[in-house]
Amino acid sequence: MVNLAAQKILEDKFGFETFRQGQATVIDQIMAGENTLAVMPTGGGKSLCYQIPALLLPGVTVVVSPLISLMKDQVDALHENGISATFINSTLDYPTIRERLRMAANAEVKLLYLAPERLDTPAFRQDLGQLQISLVAVDEAHCISQWGHDFRPSYLNLAAALEDLPSQPPIIALTATATTQVAADICQRLRIAPDHEVKTGFARDNLAFQVIRDQDKDQFLLDYLKLNPGQSGIIYASTRKEVERLTNFLKKHKISVDCYHGGLSDQARRDAQEDFLYDRIQVMVATNAFGMGIDKSNVRFVIHAQIPGSLEAYYQEAGRAGRDGLLSDAILLFRPQDIQIQHFFIDQSEMDEAYKKTEYQKLQEMTQYANTPMCLQRFILRYFGDLSDEDCGRCSNCLDQRELQDITVEAQKVLSCVVRLHSNFGKSIGAQVLTGANTQRIRQLNLQELSTYGLMRGSSQKNVSGLIDYLTAAGFLKATAGQYPVLQLTQTGADVLRGNTKVARKQAVKAQRSLPEND
Ligand code: ADP
Repeated sequence: MVNLAAQKILEDKFGFETFRQGQATVIDQIMAGENTLAVMPTGGGKSLCYQIPALLLPGVTVVVSPLISLMKDQVDALHENGISATFINSTLDYPTIRERLRMAANAEVKLLYLAPERLDTPAFRQDLGQLQISLVAVDEAHCISQWGHDFRPSYLNLAAALEDLPSQPPIIALTATATTQVAADICQRLRIAPDHEVKTGFARDNLAFQVIRDQDKDQFLLDYLKLNPGQSGIIYASTRKEVERLTNFLKKHKISVDCYHGGLSDQARRDAQEDFLYDRIQVMVATNAFGMGIDKSNVRFVIHAQIPGSLEAYYQEAGRAGRDGLLSDAILLFRPQDIQIQHFFIDQSEMDEAYKKTEYQKLQEMTQYANTPMCLQRFILRYFGDLSDEDCGRCSNCLDQRELQDITVEAQKVLSCVVRLHSNFGKSIGAQVLTGANTQRIRQLNLQELSTYGLMRGSSQKNVSGLIDYLTAAGFLKATAGQYPVLQLTQTGADVLRGNTKVARKQAVKAQRSLPEND
């Protein structure tokens, strides 16, 4: 049932007629004093889920958000709707902070935005304790979970700090990306009952997902941008160096482009972001430092020029396209060698071994996305625990017109080789053995003695590696987690070896003669 007072605020203050999916349920739960987790896609309308209760409840609503650069914009937007709000973060001096706390204590603001680090200082926690807090909203709540892709240590103290608040206000946690495991972790840390999780359809019906494999990246980008002139979009790359290279390359070809990454000055980043938001430049080339919380409605495409580290990161970044609901592209340019960059990031990180292992696992799932024959939207939804069985009909796999070919015999060769290698080796050795490579490593390990050595001698190692990726993505093989993943046979893989299951793959269509014969 829609809360009538909430409905009235929706119309009077925000100018919208109806609630979006999930919003009314979340608001009802909060108004009933229940801790709630809202998992809604980017652009789904999470902000209203706490802004409306903030206006219905007597005291102040504290919004914890890691997005310091956005707080001012969020507060300005509220002011435009005639709602009193302010923020406190590290960009302010001490007297200003005191003044803003005073305003909150005197109920002069309804919403107070805070960076999570604030809660680390006992003095500030004490100040907060003096306020009449009716609700706490934890935005980007996946940052609280070590299983999430964007874990922030400053979020760890949050739960304890909130428990200390004398008024014990209800908590609403919000995120656009939570696997079942991350959602459970958020619920446990913030004491949210699992049945108070509100998850709306994760599917983004206006996004056309595409995976483009093994193409010349630069040429693809140029062709795409020329075919879609004037459209606004983001190109993500994994490293600052690659961001700069791509930016210079596109500038040289007269594309209206700028770049954003952590190595630039605050001013340069701010300028680039504003130019993009106000359509003064068409394309932003960026690392993942760009975009969390960016509310630009007309982003028509998000292209990943290199594979990101996890599907959560991918879906969140790709989800920045099409917030206005119009059809938009989410394209991944996949080259197997780009996986190495992500490996490097994991190796270099200072996280413990268990954490690194989950990161490797996530990277593998991301790689499977790049190789899967199934509907890409469905693959993503399944990853987030939504077992929809409907194909989207828009993604590059759904639209792939190529014919399926029976590759059972080739698959059996690969699978039997994995069995002969006793699950001790990964893809690279597998491909070397199958193609009969005469490398030092093969000789050292004496693998030329295997019965499967040279079984696919006519194929290149690259093609066999691609086939192994395909069989892994399709579930006939699995790769163990870790820095050096080892291939293993799955149950369905064993069925293929026994001849009980067939394997099909869409093959490249051979070039056909289209011109009339010259006679
Ligand atoms: P999220 O935080 O989930 O990414 P936002 O809260 O920023 O999304 O909302 C995305 C856009 O949708 C905003 O422009 C917002 O004004 C709009 N919006 C939110 N709720 C509604 C609604 N019920 N009806 C129409 N538009 C809405």
